[in-house]
Formats: sequence, structure tokens, C-alpha cells
Amino acid sequence: MHRLAKVYLTGAGPGDIELLTLKALRVIREADVIIYDRLVNRDILKEAKEACECIYVGKANRHHIMPQEEINRLLYEKALIFKNIVRLKGGDSVVFGRGGEEALFLASKGIDFEFIPGITSAISVPEMANIPITHRGKSASFRVVTAYEAPEKGYAQIDWKIFKEDETIIFLMGLHQLRTICTQLINIGKPKTYPIAVISRGSRKDEKVLIGTLENIYEKAKSLPTPVLIVVGRVIEIREEIMEKVSCHIFRHL
Ligand code: SAH
Repeated sequence: MHRLAKVYLTGAGPGDIELLTLKALRVIREADVIIYDRLVNRDILKEAKEACECIYVGKANRHHIMPQEEINRLLYEKALIFKNIVRLKGGDSVVFGRGGEEALFLASKGIDFEFIPGITSAISVPEMANIPITHRGKSASFRVVTAYEAPEKGYAQIDWKIFKEDETIIFLMGLHQLRTICTQLINIGKPKTYPIAVISRGSRKDEKVLIGTLENIYEKAKSLPTPVLIVVGRVIEIREEIMEKVSCHIFRHL
């Protein structure tokens, strides 16, 4: 029976429902069960069949409502009963999303699965804020890191020496670490005036983009609503340039 089942490890994108892929939308519409996380836009669930069971297994306040082992067990149990199971996560499932662990588990149980990539917040959220993460002449590479330091959960502590001079750094899960991030980057030699952007609830109606320097961003950003993503790098100057050009243009047409 369970050979017929398939689990789709699916990325839901950064929030805006229109940033869902066509493939994700198809499996969501065909799903018998959807097991979803906190960062998934709930409006996406309206696309599911009426009979589809939607199960929330997200986290609140950094505490798991359901531990990963239980999520795995749930995926397994549903795969024994139903045909189409969608495991839906914010952004992309394999960018700090434990998609790999779920794939390993399903493979070990002989359950068919498929990854359906989503648009990760790491690239799209800065992009929608007019921050092109590898703009020529400003940065030739980018690095995505989690600022959530929890060695007991397998997230290593950040080795601050690894950051290259001109690379763009994208910190996920970093708001509570913002002050440390700024201090450590100054400690490794970045100027206090180095540009940093903090983007709250990217691609949603209440998105907020704050631009500052390593020295002054903390006070501005500390109380922003989550999810929040942090970008560090000279590419932020491109946003400023774009905004200037846009406003000049508007001015000319007045
Ligand atoms: N798999 C996800 C990331 C999971 S880690 C992805 O590919 O996007 C969760 C972190 O992602 C959040 O703490 C935040 O740093 C970031 N994030 C996700 N969606 C976001 C959004 N819409 N706006 C800002 N940050 C977001």
C-alpha cells in the first residue's frame, strides 16, 4: 500500500503566494495531507482540496511544537494511508530547513519522495529590497549563514575569520544575534560604517527594510517583527543608487 504514496518535500517561497512555483502549486492542489511550518503563508493552504488535512508542525518562539523525530513519524504514518503528502516549508526545504534529514528518513523507510525547490528567502528577500547580492564590482560571492548558534542542535558556532573581504553575507535567524554580528564584524576589521540591511517579513504586505551601519543598526532594528533576514555588504549601496535614480525620475515627471 505505502509504495503508492509519495512525499513532496516542497518549498513555499518567502511569503508572497505568487512566489510559489507551478510545480508546488500542482502538488498542493493534489495533496491528501499537507504538513506545514510556521513560515508558510496560510493563504497557500486555501489552494488545497477541501478534504485535504492540513497539519501545523511549526515552531513558536524558537521552541519546536513538534520535534523532528515526530515530524518524521507523522510523514511515515501519513504515507501508509494516503497517496499524496506535501511537506511544506518556508523558502526552500534544504536551506536551513532540514529537508535533507527528511529525505534520508523517507529513503530509509522505502517511501518515495521528491524535492520541489522553493524560492529561498536568502536570495529573494534582499533582491525584492533592491539589493542584488552579487553586483559586479561590489561583491563576487555570497555566503548564507545561520546566526542561530545551537551546537546541541547541530548548528555550529560562526567562525568569524572565514568571511572574505568583499563577499556579501546573509544571516538567517539572526535578529536576536544582531548586536553580536555587528561587534564581531567590526572585530575582524570591517569599518564601523560598513553597510548592513535588516529586512523584516520580506515579500509580505508589512515588509520593512532598514538600512544602517554596523555601528547604528541595532538600535533601529532590534524590535522588528520576525522573520528577519540580515544582509551585510557593499551591494547595499546599489539599493541606495537605485532608490536615488527612481526618485529623480519621479521628480522629473511631476
Ligand atoms: N528555508 C528557509 C529558511 C529557514 S530559516 C528559506 O529558504 O528561506 C528561517 C529564517 O529565514 C528566518 O529566521 C529569517 O532569517 C529567514 N526568512 C524566511 N522568510 C523570510 C522573509 N519573508 N523575510 C525575512 N526573512 C525571512
